[in-house]
Amino acid sequence: MAVKITDICISCGACIDECPVGAIVDDSDNPTGADAYYVYADKCVECVGHHSSPACMEVCPTEGCIVLGA
Ligand code: SF4
Ligand code: SF4
Repeated sequence: MAVKITDICISCGACIDECPVGAIVDDSDNPTGADAYYVYADKCVECVGHHSSPACMEVCPTEGCIVLGA
């Protein structure tokens, strides 16, 4: 299981430094070519942040952008 960043990502960059395992890459490194940040599912450990949700989800300002269970 991993989280997934969807195409409503505004590339604000808030999530990338929150990831403890370096699973997130920015839009310029997105392997799909989409204009959005990207999570490598094989690296994501679905970590828990300060509020019992994945750390990247907690800081993402775009509601519904990062989803669970990809
Ligand atoms: S859930 Fe945690 S480990 Fe997975 S991408 Fe988000 S911050 Fe990184
Ligand atoms: S915090 Fe959300 S909107 Fe900002 S880059 Fe990450 S996924 Fe995209």
